Amino acid sequence: MTHTAQQRTDVEGVDGGVGLTALLVAAARAIETHRHDSLAQDTYAEHFVRAAPACADWPVRIEQVPAGDDDPLWGRFARYFGLRTRVLDDFLLRSVRTNARQVVLLGAGLDTRAFRLDWPSGVAVFEIDRAGVLAFKEQVLTDLSAAPKVKRLLVPVDLRADWVGALTTAGFDPTAPSVWLAEGLLFYLPGPAETYLIDTVDRLTTGGSALAFEAKLEKDLLAYRDSAIYTATREQIGIDLLRLFDTAPRPDSAGDLTARGWSTSMHTPFDFTRLHRRGPLPEPNDALEGNRWVFAHKPRA
Ligand code: SAM
Repeated sequence: MTHTAQQRTDVEGVDGGVGLTALLVAAARAIETHRHDSLAQDTYAEHFVRAAPACADWPVRIEQVPAGDDDPLWGRFARYFGLRTRVLDDFLLRSVRTNARQVVLLGAGLDTRAFRLDWPSGVAVFEIDRAGVLAFKEQVLTDLSAAPKVKRLLVPVDLRADWVGALTTAGFDPTAPSVWLAEGLLFYLPGPAETYLIDTVDRLTTGGSALAFEAKLEKDLLAYRDSAIYTATREQIGIDLLRLFDTAPRPDSAGDLTARGWSTSMHTPFDFTRLHRRGPLPEPNDALEGNRWVFAHKPRA
């Protein structure tokens, strides 16, 4: 089977390139939603998968996967995304309950937290992604007559450009506390765009604000090319993650934030698997080995 559209890296919407990875995560969340022991519920996720021609035949339930949980893509990798969704749901809700009034989802993709989480009143959620991805998302949500549970603002912009103006024009207030999320994003960006993003988050935040992001610490990502996850994702659905990732050396964003006075903690996903008693555990030649979830808090002055 060839996957021509999927393998193009220059696609603006969700039909290929990095936009299609948003659908991969949506399919994983759909599968997680239907599990009897699900860690996160996203009833919108399967509608995105079904609406996009590029993935109309992907599974949205584990029962539709012949190998079930033994499938490296729809079993272990999808469970990884389910766990990540839950952990970051918890982080965002904790942040808005204690301090933040604004939530910024960087590379939001098909994240439906604005629709599915119970937000305190007075919170605003900003969703940043490229225009084509957000247009697809809006079409699907409009067709479902979905109503957000929070004030929701879309910011269609490319995070490789200067995106601050777009965010402030949408209503973001740098003088009010905020919580930011870069979930499954930074490794797709060139190093200078990541450095700019971290610098910008520091510049636009007051004390008491927070940021969570996902990083990959491997020195040589290509060494994992034959891992079960990368191989299955490439061969089963035509997404070659290693072609989409920026494989140049990464900035040390956790270290940069620490140097700026933020308190940071770094966890492996496996830490949370043990906490929730569900999710992936380490395995040999593991594409998830270098994945870290970083939680950063800016102290009050
Ligand atoms: N955060 C979402 C989630 O976890 O469901 C989406 C993750 S998906 C793997 C990566 C997302 O990052 C895609 O929606 C993609 O469009 C977005 N993205 C990648 N590069 C971007 C860029 N330069 N500007 C804006 N968004 C970008």
